[in-house]
Amino acid sequence: MKQAVLKKPGLVEIREVAAPREIKANEILLKIHRVGVCGSDVHMYYGKHPFANTYPMIQGHEYGGEVIAVGADVTLLKPGMKATARPHLVCGVCPACKRGQYNVCQDLKVEGCAGPEGSAQEYFIIPEDRAVLIPDTMTYDQAAMIEPAAVGAHSTRRAGDLHDKNVVVTGAGTIGNLVAQFAIARGAKKVMITDLVDSKLEKAKVCGIRHTANLAKESFSDATKRVFGEEGFQVAFEAVGAQSALTEVIGGVENGGTVVIIGVYVQNPVVNMGFLGEHELNVIGSMMYRHEDYLEAIDLVDKGVIKTSPLITQYFSLDQYHDAYKFIEANADQAIKVIITVP
Ligand SMILES: [Zn+2]
Ligand SMILES: [Zn+2]
Repeated sequence: MKQAVLKKPGLVEIREVAAPREIKANEILLKIHRVGVCGSDVHMYYGKHPFANTYPMIQGHEYGGEVIAVGADVTLLKPGMKATARPHLVCGVCPACKRGQYNVCQDLKVEGCAGPEGSAQEYFIIPEDRAVLIPDTMTYDQAAMIEPAAVGAHSTRRAGDLHDKNVVVTGAGTIGNLVAQFAIARGAKKVMITDLVDSKLEKAKVCGIRHTANLAKESFSDATKRVFGEEGFQVAFEAVGAQSALTEVIGGVENGGTVVIIGVYVQNPVVNMGFLGEHELNVIGSMMYRHEDYLEAIDLVDKGVIKTSPLITQYFSLDQYHDAYKFIEANADQAIKVIITVP
């Protein structure tokens, strides 16, 4: 079978390897159909991911595949069904794991990032405990979007009750868009999403996010006044991973408000801790997702509450993996979700 290997920063090679090993009793063999290229994959491609820096690496943690075979003990899935799986490998015994917060396991590894290989290959073996069934009504494209959608499910759960709250989401890429859609689904009053690129804000509108602000054309404070008026905003999700976005939401959120950190900071940002203390702000981390977030994401994507199709901007085949990165490099403004098709 074929697999795409990120041999070192800047170099993806396609290689031919033996068919996958025999599956164990609790395992499932998937024929991979779609793999999403994630922002963190791009950071890894450039050798700039703050924690995922293992090479060579077979990437791919967002995917949809068809069940080819299941082990003797597997009850969740049968051959012919569609499936994906959570990519995290956890120890199960550390304090976080024992509390059920295995997404922050002290020994967390992520398939295709800082862990064993990911799904950028024709066949991939997943264990039943991390697998999720994708209903027949969903496409493989949608299956590959469940991982980023689960980030939206988890981070908006972290923020607490969003009913009647005004919300800002910084960054209208895949994650920001999905976070904003989840904030709306969870009953937020008004949700404003920001970016510097009009086409991404147009996609946000297509996905039902009505309030947008292009911060290349309008200041953050003008935008929040225009959208929220005197009410201001009570919750922000920082999905850019940049100093300027973080400074704006911490400076702009209402006193006593909440800022959820989602972005990956290539540069460690500076935060005015005195301001944070005096205004009694809550700054909350959000790390990936847990199983229930996958299940909720599947449910809401299947019902059409969360829209993923408008986010897919390009397709490349597995053989063109390197071209996909080159395309993203040359067209960072236009590429939102690039999907790898695996024939
Ligand atoms: Zn991802
Ligand atoms: Zn653990």
